[in-house]
Amino acid sequence: MIYDNDNIFAKILRGEIPCDKVFEDDHVLAFKDINAQAPVHFLVIPKGNYVSQEDFGANASDEEITAFYRAVAKIVSEQGLDAAGSRTISNSGVHGGQEVPHYHLHILGGRELGRMVE
Ligand code: 5GP
Repeated sequence: MIYDNDNIFAKILRGEIPCDKVFEDDHVLAFKDINAQAPVHFLVIPKGNYVSQEDFGANASDEEITAFYRAVAKIVSEQGLDAAGSRTISNSGVHGGQEVPHYHLHILGGRELGRMVE
C-alpha cells in the first residue's frame, strides 16, 4: 500500500495540526486520542512513513521497531497504567476498521475495558 502523505498523523508529525503530546523521541510520537474511548486513550505512532502494523513490522529498521516498543513500555509505566493494566489495539485495513493510514497503536486504560471484541 502506498503511503498517503496527507493523512492526519502525517500532518501532526509535520506540526501542521496540533496534538496533546505525551511522549516523543527520535523515532516515536505519542499523543491523546481526540475522541477518547476510555478515561485514558493514547495513540503511539512511528515517525517513519508506515501504513500499518504489517508494513511497520516488515519494513521498519530494527532501531525503529525497538524504539517503538520501548516507547510503549515507557508510556504505560509513566502514565501509571502498570498496576491496573491497559489494552493496546492496532487496527489494520477495512476489516480492522483502520481510519488513519499511518501505523498507530491505541493504548487504552483507566477502567475495566470489558470483552476484547463486542
Ligand atoms: P483507527 O481507527 O485508524 O485505528 O484510529 C484512528 C484514531 O485517530 C481514532 O481513534 C481517532 O479518534 C483519532 N484521530 C483522528 N483524527 C485525530 C486528530 O486530529 N487528533 C488526534 N489526537 N486523534 C485523531
